[in-house]
Amino acid sequence: MRAAVQEWNAAGGPPPFVSLVAGLDAANPFVGPEALERTTGARFRVRVGANESAFGMSPRARAVAAGALDRLSWYGDPENHDLRADLAAYHGVDGGQVLVGAGIDDLLALLVRAFAAGGGRAVMPHGSYATFAYHAATFGVALDTVPYRADDHVDLAAMAAQARASETTRRRNLSGDGNGGATVVYLANPDNPSGTWQPEAAVRRFLAELPDHCIVALDEAYIDYAPTAPARELLTGDARVVTMRTFSKAHGMAGARVAYAVGDARVCAGLDRLRLQFGVSRVAQEAARAALADQAFVADVARRVAAGRDAYHEVGRALGLPTVPSATNFVCFDLGSRARAEAVMAALLGRGVFVRKPPAPPLDRCIRLGVGTEAERDIVAAELRRALDVLTELPGDG
Ligand SMILES: *Cc1c(COP(=O)(O)O)cnc(C)c1O
Repeated sequence: MRAAVQEWNAAGGPPPFVSLVAGLDAANPFVGPEALERTTGARFRVRVGANESAFGMSPRARAVAAGALDRLSWYGDPENHDLRADLAAYHGVDGGQVLVGAGIDDLLALLVRAFAAGGGRAVMPHGSYATFAYHAATFGVALDTVPYRADDHVDLAAMAAQARASETTRRRNLSGDGNGGATVVYLANPDNPSGTWQPEAAVRRFLAELPDHCIVALDEAYIDYAPTAPARELLTGDARVVTMRTFSKAHGMAGARVAYAVGDARVCAGLDRLRLQFGVSRVAQEAARAALADQAFVADVARRVAAGRDAYHEVGRALGLPTVPSATNFVCFDLGSRARAEAVMAALLGRGVFVRKPPAPPLDRCIRLGVGTEAERDIVAAELRRALDVLTELPGDG
């Protein structure tokens, strides 16, 4: 990407980009399954690589969305008023503590812009959700990454220590060029791509160790799949925490692009200044309201996903592959090394199974499989068994 940009400028093409853009590598974090299909010319048989829901959306939300199509000629309410009011009532907070955006991806960008853009610094687990790293890069934010623990959980103590360490640097050097302290900390709980989850007490200990000026993006995209009821309560009362939830996962509406943040009203008001005016369509707003009202549907999806995870752990045992405990709608299968995981992933892609893998140690020894439907899991299990044949050609196979 960088080479292409330079060549283009040198050839007397359009005017040069600002240095931030000229210096970016191909930053957009994901190659979509459609792009992979165009490369190979073959369609995927199963799509378990992007953590999408295999169980569709609430039939009631679907009916509302279909009805709202009649008003596609109108912009949506730019204040997302009714959806925000429903969300506030659902969580027992004020409307001013809720911000609606076009996916958590959109909300993360607002947070990075508002608290770190143009020379700030942020902290995230090494190899966690790539979109956060992408936003940091595109808004000129330096990023400190902290390795996962050996047990594949986010190392909360090390994350807090990293934020404190850069705070010391900040006091010494207020230069505003990325050498200052971190002001934004990203934490997905449950985490992607590991699938692991930590209870509220652990998150509270982490918050207690964080410097006061750090804002925390608490990404709860997978909260509906987390184990215990208290996990689904919102962590409120700390002005540094912005909790993000989405209709993309358990609600089965990833393509609708609608999510929300709950946080301190002053923080929400600040982010609101940056928000894209018509970023969330009327169809998405109305469908989200209906989806929120259909909690029985979400609970049913969560039950099916839990059964699917159990089935995957069983597949792992049958194939002699350890699996990572998961509080999400996917399971990481441990292939023992990065090379082996990459070989198996390539074999699965070649056999029509869309799959992705964690990029960084210690999780890069794994491939990540979405639970899918029972029929999809049967195909995935059969293809995984076949794909393991490629390992006989690799060193280190027993
Ligand atoms: C899927 C996912 C999201 C979803 O983002 P949307 O933009 O709301 O679709 C956010 N965070 C993580 C960690 C995810 O895996």
